[in-house]
Amino acid sequence: MSRNPRFVRARRRRFQVRRSPVHGRGVFALVDIPADTRLLEYTGQVISWQQAQQQHPHDAAQPNHTFYFHVDDEHVIDASRGGNSSRWINHSCDPNTVADELDGRIFIRTLRRIRAGEELSYDYGLIIDEPLTDELLAEFACHCGSAGCRGTLLALDADDDENNDSPGAQGDGAAHG
Ligand SMILES: [Zn+2]
Repeated sequence: MSRNPRFVRARRRRFQVRRSPVHGRGVFALVDIPADTRLLEYTGQVISWQQAQQQHPHDAAQPNHTFYFHVDDEHVIDASRGGNSSRWINHSCDPNTVADELDGRIFIRTLRRIRAGEELSYDYGLIIDEPLTDELLAEFACHCGSAGCRGTLLALDADDDENNDSPGAQGDGAAHG
């Protein structure tokens, strides 16, 4: 019995994980990707902040490196369990993607057109419940190399999302010039 051939083909992969010049592994575009494209979901096990703090760090040699994504005040996605390629996306202070939250899920979306070969990045904007001392900023130093690099993976306007439009709202330790 003969069947008509069906022209089924896999969608061309749009990105891949490989070694990054920025840090460890990174995720690189394999094809040109238009702006405003939802690329992938930041998947993993959803845990509470309390659990996250208890089981941290994943790697004693790199205590500040986690696969956690802060969803909201109660939930963290732990991509060390059930995570996909998104957990290898590096930070940049001049990122080409952004992580959008939608109903408690996180999706990585392109901010601009990305050329084949470019490394994907988003701004981690890490929030830490301590004053931002020079030591802390150095511990979370950024090496993204962008012209506007702020020098740290930490958010400098960490006072929270609501009051970001008032320019004087920076935290105590955030005024390092
Ligand atoms: Zn930077």
